[in-house]
Amino acid sequence: MKLQEYRSKEILARHGVSLLAGQVADTPEEARAAAERIGGPVVVKAQVLVGGRGKAGGVKLASDPGEAEARAREILGMRIKGVSVRKVLVAPAADIEREFYLGLILDRGAKAIIAIASAEGGVEIEETARNNPDAILRIGLHPLIGLQEHQVRRVAFRLGVPAELRPDFATVFRGLYAAFIASDADLAEINPLVITRDGALLALDAKIVLDDSALYRHPELEALRDLDEEEPSEIAAREAGINFIKLDGTIGCMVNGAGLAMTTMDLVKLAGGEPANFLDIGGGAKAERVAAAFRIILDDPRVQAILVNIFGGITRGDEVARGIVEARQTLSRQVPMVVRIVGTNAEEARPILAEANLITASSLDEAAERAVAAVRTG
Ligand code: GDP
Ligand code: MN
Repeated sequence: MKLQEYRSKEILARHGVSLLAGQVADTPEEARAAAERIGGPVVVKAQVLVGGRGKAGGVKLASDPGEAEARAREILGMRIKGVSVRKVLVAPAADIEREFYLGLILDRGAKAIIAIASAEGGVEIEETARNNPDAILRIGLHPLIGLQEHQVRRVAFRLGVPAELRPDFATVFRGLYAAFIASDADLAEINPLVITRDGALLALDAKIVLDDSALYRHPELEALRDLDEEEPSEIAAREAGINFIKLDGTIGCMVNGAGLAMTTMDLVKLAGGEPANFLDIGGGAKAERVAAAFRIILDDPRVQAILVNIFGGITRGDEVARGIVEARQTLSRQVPMVVRIVGTNAEEARPILAEANLITASSLDEAAERAVAAVRTG
């Protein structure tokens, strides 16, 4: 789960990272009021969960409250990489002398947290990695002993942080690390970390990505989820206890088990189709969960056929078949449905599906081919 800049900054500030805290506004008038309270020049920043806001015109300076209102009016409602801006952060403007990149990322390959730093801050780190990989310093941190002082010094020297700012740099780096650990993050980055003309070290932008699997340990962070920016279908799925990821294809998939769901998507592609989603209905596959899954799938107007692939284990195939038939009657829109049920009570499932005029298949290849054919013939 990605956190907005202003949320990420709240967390970093709690861990001692120095920054210019601002105020969030969702109207131009509120942005003006925020600028009045702050006093002096401000920066108005789009709060969207995508990078490169600066380049896209989503970060603008304003010298007075009137200008802040005008800039906010331009930025609010703007679309950045397809996401519409609903909130801006209004913060005191900094007079920048130098910009650095400082980040921590959980590297599964290295089985460690890696610190990444670059003296070429401000631009996206992926861009630096492409254009000037030597400008990036990467250091693996020991999983048990964590960030060491010598590592902090090494990064400070490499970035060329002036001697008088090295203690402040250490506070920022340690704070970033503490925030990363405390919130079970996958990524925490400050880009840019700046030195201002009057010699202060400040985090001007922050991004924290939390590990979804650890969110249950942080109810206070889960509450920060920005529902404005999530797919409504993914929110509905989470509430129904269904693992769902929306994609761009035309064949809706309803499967039990994550591995089988991925295999199903692969076979849809192999048969020449495009899956509209990943959906793992989980164990049980009770009628109401099946109905919720169908509703979520059909909410996507692109979906032209549904492929149901259920492996009956503890869940009996005939129960699932009955659930499908029952749920189908409640749907607002009908599309061809190809159903494959194998495993426990698959035989008993067959007549139930046949009676409901559902297309059945015994092998997965066949099921995928029939779903693709159903889309082609409309
Ligand atoms: P991003 O483009 O989404 O990463 O947004 P950032 O918050 O990193 O802003 C992009 C760039 O805008 C930064 O690298 C800075 O150069 C500039 N910027 C952001 N805040 C300020 C500020 O307070 N003062 C000045 N002068 N520039 C800023
Ligand atoms: Mn940035």
